[in-house]
Amino acid sequence: MVSQKIQQCRACQSKDLVTILDLGETPLANALLNKEQLNEIEFTAPLAVLLCQSCGLSQLSCTIAPEKLFRNYPYFSSFSETMLKHAKDLCLRLIPERQLNKQSFVVEIASNDGYLLKNYNKAGVPTLGVEPALNIAQIARENGIETISEFFNGDLAKDIVDTKGKADIIHAHNVLAHVPDINSILQGIGILLKDEGVAVIEAPYAVTMIDKVEFDTIYHEHVFYFTVTALNNLCQRNDLVLADIEQVELHGGSLRLFISKHGKPSPTVMSMLSDEKARGFDTAKGYETFANQVDSLKSDLVSLLKKLKEADKTIAVYGAAAKGSTLLNFCGLGKEMLDFAVDRSTAKQGLFMPGTKLPIYNPAELINQKPDYVLLLTWNFAEEILRQQAEYIRNGGQFIVPIPKPTILAPATVSV
Ligand SMILES: [Zn+2]
Repeated sequence: MVSQKIQQCRACQSKDLVTILDLGETPLANALLNKEQLNEIEFTAPLAVLLCQSCGLSQLSCTIAPEKLFRNYPYFSSFSETMLKHAKDLCLRLIPERQLNKQSFVVEIASNDGYLLKNYNKAGVPTLGVEPALNIAQIARENGIETISEFFNGDLAKDIVDTKGKADIIHAHNVLAHVPDINSILQGIGILLKDEGVAVIEAPYAVTMIDKVEFDTIYHEHVFYFTVTALNNLCQRNDLVLADIEQVELHGGSLRLFISKHGKPSPTVMSMLSDEKARGFDTAKGYETFANQVDSLKSDLVSLLKKLKEADKTIAVYGAAAKGSTLLNFCGLGKEMLDFAVDRSTAKQGLFMPGTKLPIYNPAELINQKPDYVLLLTWNFAEEILRQQAEYIRNGGQFIVPIPKPTILAPATVSV
């Protein structure tokens, strides 16, 4: 079955699930269309978030077969300067901190094109990438990063231990939220990690998503929305320790988790747990206002764009990313309001966005076609994108940022 509604929590199997947000029936956010597919009926599935009131884990109401979601994933981390720097800074910090050398071993789950592991390789630290998307794993190998093309779980972890030994560090950035069988990832980490090793996991923080109304980070690939409460329960259930947490700016506000096999949670973890309890995030109570805020954002954005359209303005969108699909499809924005999309990824150019069917061009079209406004869908990379689009802004173009409140950036506030 391609899409299946869950009857119980994916992590703890409780049936005590309540809906906290329903975004309706939408196409898969990363299923970009080619010309031939434009006339075919698009696959859609319900996009709703449920809270497990037993373990505190928020999750989508439907599971989509991973083969449908991930086998040709049109996303290359290396296209974002911000991500590259973020990865490099982390590796350069961990190498001395964990005293890594050519006898050490680092594994990354969902290693993409090798954007992170290459930093270890440069320092002579052996690595292994695990990347299920066949096309992206191939690119990593061509770049000299040893990569296997499999889904990570306990069995694969055992295979890696048998052939290469246990790992000093396991990275898993922006993948934990994507795997419906989440216990299998944590079991695999428990098997693969050395006793004194550490797993460094990055995942978006649900509390930031709620506080900043970042509902567009919800899409079918993204099954889980983590609080520290839920993560701590998840680690304990899998005999791991949520040892420490840092908050990082990436993707609108993420958690960097340090997970170990022994020890106890740091004061930071303990204080985040008690903050979440105080705000009611262990029950449906903490989520009550979220759906209302999402609805007001939608009506504010639609009326702003309507006003511009009535004044005969042209509007393009920047960023053919998953979050853009969620935003456009949930807000019901399409060709009657928007002219075209641009994206820096050459893999996406020439294709069409899911649902809205907006054509995706090279960002150079902002200079050529001079739209009056650009709706910035990839607002999480705003600084970088505004810098790259200095010429468009100098020519009088204006950016609209949709989150947390639809806002036209005044040219004076944009430093270019
Ligand atoms: Zn649960």
